[in-house]
Amino acid sequence: MADEEAGAVTARAAELAVREVSVRVGGKDLVRGVSLDVAPGEVLGLVGPNGAGKSTLLRTLYRARRPTSGRVLLDGQDVWRMPGRWLARRLAAVLQETGGDFDLTVYDVVAMGRTPHKRAFAGDDADDRTIIAEALERLDVAGLAYAPFDRLSGGEKQRVLIARALAQRPGTMVLDEPTNHLDLRHQFDALRLVRGLGVTTVVALHDLNLAAAFCDRICVMHGGEVVALGTPRQVLTPALLADVYRVEAEVTPHPETGIPHVIVKTGGGDAAN
Ligand code: ADP
Ligand code: MG
Repeated sequence: MADEEAGAVTARAAELAVREVSVRVGGKDLVRGVSLDVAPGEVLGLVGPNGAGKSTLLRTLYRARRPTSGRVLLDGQDVWRMPGRWLARRLAAVLQETGGDFDLTVYDVVAMGRTPHKRAFAGDDADDRTIIAEALERLDVAGLAYAPFDRLSGGEKQRVLIARALAQRPGTMVLDEPTNHLDLRHQFDALRLVRGLGVTTVVALHDLNLAAAFCDRICVMHGGEVVALGTPRQVLTPALLADVYRVEAEVTPHPETGIPHVIVKTGGGDAAN
């Protein structure tokens, strides 16, 4: 049973398919009929205003909320019908909620990423320790390894949680606004790193320019539905930004990369937020 073997092997980048997923809570559709195909190794950005349903959709992917209808398939397998350990070996989630890890050091938190790959109660072997050290290093938190997780700043916590996901060596990653508390350099470093992993990635991002720079395609959600899906250039248009975000914006190609850059026109007294 190759799948039961512990070890350092990174899971293969999976094909992720969301099929007509709806989430209905208290008579309200938080997510309505969402279908998406994410190719192996593709980075899909999920954007949209507050309350659009991004986090709710992401929860159905890492099995924190069961869809009311529809299916989530990883390499053709319905994630909601597979054992939790099966999913944990293939998919890592980086979430915003960071509470609850009392008394753990940064090292302990990152080491938790290895759990799905080990037999019950097994300690860390040499491979595990190498993987953990590498993850700490890559997220620039090796110097904090023995600090209590609870005492870290929001940005440091966020980087530790990304390091934990990295240590999990998943083939698929789901990240919910992973750059929120990060300073400019760490935002770029974190997204460049995630992108460079070559794993199938769905990442909710607030910053449209970061999404344009790091995602192969962007999915725009609004009112629980997908309202646009395509390359950054196809999706990030002044018309869409006016429609979905109710802002007047200019979109210009970056002078060097050609990546679309969104500049929101401020002033004029029409405060959309
Ligand atoms: P986003 O991540 O795009 O900001 P969410 O998925 O968090 O959006 O929320 C979508 C909508 O669902 C919001 O209007 C939010 O208030 C509502 N919502 C989220 N969780 C629940 C819940 N457990 N019960 C009822 N409404 C919820
Ligand atoms: Mg959210």
